[in-house]
Amino acid sequence: MKVYKFGGASVRNAGGVRNLHNIIRDEKELFVIVSAMGKTTNALEGVFDACRTGNAAAAAERINEIELYHYGIIAELFGDPSLRIAAVDTFLKELRDFADPSRYDSSRPEEWYDKIVAFGELISTTIVSEYLNSQGTANRWIDMRRCFVTQPRHKDANVLIEESAPLLRREIAGERTRIFIGQGFIGSAPDGSTTTLGREGSDYSAAVAANILDAESMSVWKDVDGVLNADPKIFPDARKIDALNYVDTIELAYSGAQIIHPKTIKPLQNKQIPLYVRPFGDKSKSGTAITGSAPSVTVPIIILKRNQSVLTLRSRDLSFVLEEKFPIVFSTLERFRIKTNLIHNTAVELSLCTEESWHLEEAAEALQREGFDTAICRNVELLTIHHYDSALYEKYATAGGNVIGQTSPDTLRVVRYRSEG
Ligand code: ASP
Ligand code: MG
Repeated sequence: MKVYKFGGASVRNAGGVRNLHNIIRDEKELFVIVSAMGKTTNALEGVFDACRTGNAAAAAERINEIELYHYGIIAELFGDPSLRIAAVDTFLKELRDFADPSRYDSSRPEEWYDKIVAFGELISTTIVSEYLNSQGTANRWIDMRRCFVTQPRHKDANVLIEESAPLLRREIAGERTRIFIGQGFIGSAPDGSTTTLGREGSDYSAAVAANILDAESMSVWKDVDGVLNADPKIFPDARKIDALNYVDTIELAYSGAQIIHPKTIKPLQNKQIPLYVRPFGDKSKSGTAITGSAPSVTVPIIILKRNQSVLTLRSRDLSFVLEEKFPIVFSTLERFRIKTNLIHNTAVELSLCTEESWHLEEAAEALQREGFDTAICRNVELLTIHHYDSALYEKYATAGGNVIGQTSPDTLRVVRYRSEG
């Protein structure tokens, strides 16, 4: 069994879905994980926001746009503008029900977020599965909520692999058809409520499926030739890396390289399953191979992580932040699902570079109640350079607009005000 993962960009239109078919059509035993189409997850976050803020009209309007977008793709794929897919309509109806502000439970925002946002993958996989069947590529649609048991934690859950393994194996056992289409990004908590695995979490879903099914390999099909040493949109002389090891990959992913979700590597590493990052535009190209045995990379790797904030905390009673306050700071951030990407401290001050989050103010207020003065600096980004040389150091470490800088012999990290582009 192989596992393939297709991200939102690769299925953002009818051409992308046809291309997916082209890539998988010769496979015999395949588990395919698919993300929500295009920017659907962002759109669903917009639906959730409208619901949370009581704006029924905005929620309805956003769902109408989501419906039109998907039915546009369906019309083109099947060549029939009046075709309806019953399962898609059922999901849209459920989505409308959950997005109704009068039903919203404000004591459980993350749980409600998951209920709403999961429809992106439920709808995309339904369309892909029906299209493949219509083209003679028989497959089975798998509801990953029945296969992945996750922690009882909403918006950023981990899959409980031991509990999930028998469920996923049972789900596909005895099927004559050996092509399966499942959703990335979603699962269920032990109480049965839908959970999501963190933004961009479909890679992780595919890795968990690969682990459970003892896959011979996992491939992620992307709109780039493989893993590059920098984002070509920002650094024009970016180069492709042919081979990477798991450790370097997890570091790169954590620093914000958009190659793969950081949670993806562990389930693969545990079973030594190779991961290929391949261009969906050309399946003959080799892409990048990520394995346990590849040598460490030596070229500089430049990663820009956008949409960051710096939360600065100062203990009012002058207690030492690291020794005395560390647990309370991080348990508070964890409660609000805020991810910290860089830590900088003095005796009584702690600056944390975190992901932008609608919970940041709430977390800051909670920390004020714990005896901190707080300040939030928005509109910053985190630049990480592994294997930097003196030219890169000169250019980035000493630039104006840097808010925090950290240098080790191998890695330079700078939090700076947002650049253009
Ligand atoms: N659709 C989800 C997202 O956009 C998961 C994924 O794409 O991996 O975050
Ligand atoms: Mg995506």
